[in-house]
Amino acid sequence: MGAELLSDQQQRDLHELLLRRYRLLTQILRNELHVDGSDAVQATATSDADWATAEVDADLALTRVERDQNELNAVSRALARIDRDEYGICESCGAAIGYPRLLAHPSATRCLVCQEQQETASKFAPL
Ligand SMILES: [Zn+2]
Repeated sequence: MGAELLSDQQQRDLHELLLRRYRLLTQILRNELHVDGSDAVQATATSDADWATAEVDADLALTRVERDQNELNAVSRALARIDRDEYGICESCGAAIGYPRLLAHPSATRCLVCQEQQETASKFAPL
């Protein structure tokens, strides 16, 4: 509550932050998909134990790729929101999200109050 709408300068800073994050994530994902491809797994697995390790590694890699892909999606959505002049507005209650929170989480789509409600609710909701 009481968070201020973004100034032009703040919006430009966050736009820059999001673009940098976008480029970084694109790069990370490219590396992850390249390095953790099935060729690499096959080349290093020579015994059953190695296969098990390789599988765990592949699982971890997949989790990492999924997480990075999710973040990349969130960053893309945030950039689209800037284009539509909706950036920095809570999508649940319409209040300003506030500059300090956006600096910490540039792809945040909800204000702190709504985010906490959402997290509390999803803890009890079936997945
Ligand atoms: Zn809200």
